[in-house]
Amino acid sequence: MSEAALDPVELAARLIRRPSVTPKDEGALDIVAVTLEELGFACHRLVFAEGGEPIHNLYARRGTGRPNLCFAGHTDVVPPGARETWSFDPFAGAVRDGELWGRGAVDMKGAIAAFIAAAQRYLDRHQAGAAGSISLLITGDEEGPAVNGTKKMLEWLDGRGEILDACVVGEPTSAVTLGDMIKIGRRGSLTGRLTAHGVQGHTAYPHLADNAAHRLVAMLHALTTTELDRGSEHFPPSTLQVATIDVGNPASNVIPASAQAVLNIRFNDRWTGETLNRWLAERLDALGGHCTLDVTVSGESFLVPPGAIGERLAEAVRRVTGNSPEFSTTGGTSDARFIRTCCPVAEFGLVGQRAHQVDERVGLAALTEIYQTFLGLYFDAP
Ligand SMILES: [Zn+2]
Repeated sequence: MSEAALDPVELAARLIRRPSVTPKDEGALDIVAVTLEELGFACHRLVFAEGGEPIHNLYARRGTGRPNLCFAGHTDVVPPGARETWSFDPFAGAVRDGELWGRGAVDMKGAIAAFIAAAQRYLDRHQAGAAGSISLLITGDEEGPAVNGTKKMLEWLDGRGEILDACVVGEPTSAVTLGDMIKIGRRGSLTGRLTAHGVQGHTAYPHLADNAAHRLVAMLHALTTTELDRGSEHFPPSTLQVATIDVGNPASNVIPASAQAVLNIRFNDRWTGETLNRWLAERLDALGGHCTLDVTVSGESFLVPPGAIGERLAEAVRRVTGNSPEFSTTGGTSDARFIRTCCPVAEFGLVGQRAHQVDERVGLAALTEIYQTFLGLYFDAP
């Protein structure tokens, strides 16, 4: 390969110019696929549309040998919000002082471009070819319902007998400075829709009624003042937050017959969605019931011990930045929750502070170098 080195900022800027707000693709994956094909990757484009709009996905692999190291990411972005609050058009891909500005710069078009540039540099220096393969799994609905993205792609890969031996997810995991944090697991997330039931009545005659709002307040008090746990080796304590309380009663002289609240629990590996659901039911029963609880678990907690993938990422970070990253499990859910069922996975990428914010911006040189160093450590120093 003798083409000029890919500039990750230039590639990411081209991606940002495609306003791929979930579920739209707007040609973003075309840019990724064409770039990868030029580097010798075999690309597979797949569109899934179960229960909604079509979602574009890409699997690309260079080489046929093993181990097959996969980089996973997404080209979809969250909406930019009010454009006039941005210093630059969020979809212009502006570059100033080496920093790339725009929606998706941090989360996570920048990391995709950095990994592709790193792969090109690594492959350039290893013409004889490492025995293994490099692959990319890029989806278009990570920021959305995540139904037609990574999950379906993994089923498709499985159906083809395609094996991933390890995976790096390029989410913006760094907290304050690049390389300070690698994620090796995530908390689970449970959402409960709680409805307290009572008997409607006149506020002047409360003995004839049963105030559902009072019942709800007592339930929420009980739930928010009980410690769920004190954390575990790699996890912070589980937390329960009340997201909303709705009685919907416009009259000041009516005792409401029902009252609703939505609560969200981020839970560590001391719980599963199932045990937490039981805990909630028991707590509410102890208060006399008179309620219904609807629970959805959008992800179980998981932990992948640092091992081969996390340790090598950490070593690459140390060599490039001098930082010793912390292995963490904080933050929201990510597609790593699906990938961890098929191979060891760790998440590492840019500093996340500006993700999803106005004036999202970032430089990519150091991340590119870290990914390139990691590829060397993974393939050449087993
Ligand atoms: Zn993301």
